[in-house]
Formats: sequence, structure tokens, C-alpha cells
Amino acid sequence: MTSSSRPPTERGGHTAPAPMDRGGLATPAPALKTALIYGEEWARFDYGPEHPLRMERLGLTWRLMQAYGLTRLPGMLLRSPEPAGETDLARFHSREYLDVLKQADAGREPPRGETFGLGAGDNPVFPGLWEASRLGAAGSLLAADLVGSGEVDRAFHFAGGLHHAMPDRASGFCYVNDAVLAIMRLRERGLRVAYVDIDAHHGDGVQHAFYGDPRVLTVSTHERGERLFPGTGFVREVGEGEGVGYSVNLPLEAYTDSTAYLPAFEAVVPPLVARFDPDVIVAQLGIDAHRTDPLTHLALDLQGWTAALTRILTLAPRVVALGGGGYDLTNVARGWTVAWAVLNGIELPPELPEEFFARERARFGFKSRALWDRPVALPEDLEQPVREYADRQVDAVQKLIFPLHGL
Ligand SMILES: [Zn+2]
Repeated sequence: MTSSSRPPTERGGHTAPAPMDRGGLATPAPALKTALIYGEEWARFDYGPEHPLRMERLGLTWRLMQAYGLTRLPGMLLRSPEPAGETDLARFHSREYLDVLKQADAGREPPRGETFGLGAGDNPVFPGLWEASRLGAAGSLLAADLVGSGEVDRAFHFAGGLHHAMPDRASGFCYVNDAVLAIMRLRERGLRVAYVDIDAHHGDGVQHAFYGDPRVLTVSTHERGERLFPGTGFVREVGEGEGVGYSVNLPLEAYTDSTAYLPAFEAVVPPLVARFDPDVIVAQLGIDAHRTDPLTHLALDLQGWTAALTRILTLAPRVVALGGGGYDLTNVARGWTVAWAVLNGIELPPELPEEFFARERARFGFKSRALWDRPVALPEDLEQPVREYADRQVDAVQKLIFPLHGL
């Protein structure tokens, strides 16, 4: 699944948001209660040297947040998760599958591992797999508890968002579906939950979990299934039974950039989510739709991705934000640092903190100190098919799903 890698042409100009002069230090909006979920345990786990999901992306993100002063904001909570119990995981996953994950914890492939999606390739068996899965689930459950109880308005667990895991199968680098578990936890409190997923890949595991459930609205924007894993996420997947109309997909053509993405997003996501009127949005903030991501072919810039997140935040009073995909580590660190700033109502200085940049640039390949991306225009011959495809999908969603909600 490699791209034909036609490079977009560059047209200069810098349109990042205007910086606020705060001497490099971030200041929060008052009265917003937030929680950041982070622990250092990730350093003990490793998908292996050939795998694109590099755990060190979490540490890099943390260090950029630290450098910007975002890990010690007045009033924010900073929490690290304890591994979740098996009973918590069994709310979504089969006991048989969880037993297999437990057996895999030693780092050796369990018997019949491939039946459960484990093995060489996307979902390797590595030492600590069971514990890593329990920690990932716990972080998102903790975020859901803090938000669900009203202790905070917004929580961010950027190690979460592993949206492909199925009840009895690992898939797409995901073993346990923390997003599903978080939604279930919020539902147990009787809250209305909308799930909005802006990862480049379809949020198939989450859609599957709530496919027949009209009390959870799932919305996923992603690269079209003919071009990208997991091969699903077409507009016609609208839910089943009572859940018809509560599963929403906006697939996009390869090379879709922010200028094509944002109008399509705006035409589909806010009307449906606002009509659903959720108490809480669970947002999956994969940053692999970025134009430099090595695994996908979408072409968003950080500004467009951030604009989508900012819009999501207007649609519900409370938000549980999760991470997700993202395989260009310079994007992961910038994206999730910006996300945490936005969740706190903070505008960041537009240059990466000097010390951070000096320390990390060589190892992680930061090309400049700019926090934001330089705008890049698509070649004209790509612009038209990208826009036409997006228009057709928006039209299809509006015809198929909007009437079910009286829109
Ligand atoms: Zn992804």
C-alpha cells in the first residue's frame, strides 16, 4: 500500500495563527478544567525495529509539551494510569482473546495466535504486550472517568485511540480498543456519546462496537477504503437495526489536503453531531492524515488538522481526547502538543522551544523550528479529483443519513 508519491508543489507564504507574545510561555484560559494522562511505562515496550509504530513518539510528544510549559498548567490534572483489570477489558473483548493476549505477554507467540490477529507484520507479539494493552485501556478509562464524573471538562490520553482492535482480534497495530472501552464507561453513566475520528484510517473497531446502537453516534473521516487499510468506512455503512443513521463515514481521496478536507468535514460532522447533541465527544486524534505521514496518502497540514479539532470542541461541553495513528514523529509531537494546547484554550508561540529543537532535531528529523506547516498547494491535476470525490461523498451522506435525523 505505497503511494505513487507525487510531491505537491510548494507555494510560499506563511499563514500560521498570529502568535501571542507571552515570552514563549503558554497561559491557559480560565475556568476550563483539564486532565492530561501520561506515564513513562511506554519505554518498556517495543513493537520491534521494523515496525512503524515507534513507542518513543509518546516520549517525544511529552518532551515538547514540557518544553512549551504545558505539563504544569495551573489547575490541570496530570495523571498516570495503572493497568486496567481484565474485567474492564472484557466489557468489549472476548475472554478467549484476552487469554491469548495474556499468554503473549512473555513475548512468544501463543498457540493459534494468528487466529486472533497476532504474529509477524502489523500486530507483533512483544514482551509486555498484555501489560501494554492494559495500560492503554486504563489511560482512556481514566480519561472517561475524570470527564464522566465532571471532575474535568476535557481529558487527553494521547497513548490511546487504538481504534482498530476488534472483540476477538488484534488489528492495525491495535490489541485492545481503549476508545470503545472509554465510550462504554461514559455510557454506563447514562451520558450521550458521540465519537469523532479524524485518523487517516477508518475507525472500524469503534464503528463495529456500536453499529446497532442509536445511543452512540460514530463519525469517521479517513482515506477511502479502496486505497487504505482497513478497507472499510464507506458512506453506505450507516449502522444496522435501531442504529441505522448513527454510523457515519466520510471517505476521502488520496491527496486530500486541508482546503478540500475542511469544507467536507464542516458539511458533514457539525450538523450531525450538533443534532445528536452529545454530553461528551470522544475524539480520536490520529495525525496520520498529515501530508508527510509515511503510511497514508492524505495531505492535511497541521493547521487544517487543528482546525478540525477546534471545530469538534465546539460541539459538546465535554471531551475525551485520544491519540491514534501518526508515523512521522515530528508530526505526532507537534500535533498532540497543539491538541493539548487547544484543549486548554491556549495559543502556542509559533516556533518550537529552542532547547527542545536543539536537543531533538537531529534524532527525530525536525526540519525547522516552525510549529506550523508551510502551506503547500496541490498540483491542479490532483485538486479537481480530490474535490470532486469529497463533494460526492458529502452529497451521499447528506442524502442517506441527514434525512434520518430530520436534517
Ligand atoms: Zn491511522
